[in-house]
Amino acid sequence: MRTLLTAVTILFCTAAAHAAPSHAPMPDPTIAAMLAKVSPERIKATNSKLIAFGTRSTFSEQMTGGRGAAAAREWIAAQFREIAKASGGRMTVALDSYIQKVDGKRIVRDVEISSVIATIQGDEPGSRTYVMSSHYDSRNSDNADTTHDAPGADDNGSGTAAVIEAASVMAALKPHATILFATYDSEEQGLFGSAHHANALKDAHVDVQGDLNNDIVGASVGDQGEHNPGYIRLFSQALATGADPKTVNSVGNENDSPSRELARYAKETGDRYQRDFHAEMIDRTDRFLRGGDHTSFNTAGFPAVRFTEPVENFAHQHQTPRTENGIEYGDFQKYMDFEYLARVTRYNVSVLASLAMGPGCPANAAVLTKELDNKTQLTWEAVPGAARYEVVRRKTTDALWGEALDVGNVTAVTVPYSKDNWLFGIRAVDAHGQRGVPAFPMPVK
Ligand SMILES: [Zn+2]
Repeated sequence: MRTLLTAVTILFCTAAAHAAPSHAPMPDPTIAAMLAKVSPERIKATNSKLIAFGTRSTFSEQMTGGRGAAAAREWIAAQFREIAKASGGRMTVALDSYIQKVDGKRIVRDVEISSVIATIQGDEPGSRTYVMSSHYDSRNSDNADTTHDAPGADDNGSGTAAVIEAASVMAALKPHATILFATYDSEEQGLFGSAHHANALKDAHVDVQGDLNNDIVGASVGDQGEHNPGYIRLFSQALATGADPKTVNSVGNENDSPSRELARYAKETGDRYQRDFHAEMIDRTDRFLRGGDHTSFNTAGFPAVRFTEPVENFAHQHQTPRTENGIEYGDFQKYMDFEYLARVTRYNVSVLASLAMGPGCPANAAVLTKELDNKTQLTWEAVPGAARYEVVRRKTTDALWGEALDVGNVTAVTVPYSKDNWLFGIRAVDAHGQRGVPAFPMPVK
């Protein structure tokens, strides 16, 4: 039997009663100070250096003379090591490497796959971890071509420059959760670098509570010339890996996978920090015909989302540089917008820092469904660092959490609203008012 339920008679405060939604704490000054340090010029310099390796194709790993993937990853690792000097010893840098055997598909020969990971150690007991990820490898029209250039300025020199910049401005942070800054190899051959790393985290029982993947995040002009400098797309999967569709139909949590809760949290958090920039949630795993490294985290059972620019120009992706019928193909830096990429980087930093400085997501959240009644009994496990908890609710047809109820420092509560009519979430709040990602309660009889 679960713990004694606490009856709560306070009603939800409605968003309309406040200038800001009831769940929105004021921006944190420590986070705002980190955002102010994000530099479009430094991001551009990082991007230029990545392009200067000529190609970062996974199969260019044996090249010498400053060309190819091995030179690129050595340089990325050196950047992280330099950045780590400001961390007081909390940031370390490592390569996650293995030999991938020829697979008869896009791995055309045995090849060393090697990702670069910088880690800021958190001070909390346990292994709660958040990841900001990108892939540094590039490709052109032929997957295995290492002869021609593959500049990969946007795909994914943009995400990689954003990850390095975020590590730079966050290096001195003393977070509660551990933060990983990951630049993966071999995304273009089938997510190999990220899959290896995500599986290693799973095997080590690391409590990964979110991956923010950045892939193609540096251009604000679309293929019809449209300019969209004010937002970023935010993709997330509907059902957690392994979810039973029959249960989802019964519970109505088709819009409440851990990844979707992470996306919702990212939007609600990131939108508060930049007046002229927001995330547009896209409620699907990824774009059609395309994949990304967040899927490796999803497959390993971890919440993960993907950021991608508003409108892609497919003549600038996976193309050997050339001009054909008057159309220029190739992933060149001249198509990028570094003020835009700085906004994307700030967005990531605001979300990542809020996650890692705030409390984690309650484990084993449950709604008790053994009685036919018109109230809702919720239970969950205590979260390290939580001062109290909030129950959030929304209509089953609403996209975002709208109302929050402060239930105090308890791990069980009864709220006077029907479990049949509402969706609920439970989130931890720390002593500074920082909220964590809500947990969606699953039914327990
Ligand atoms: Zn990519």
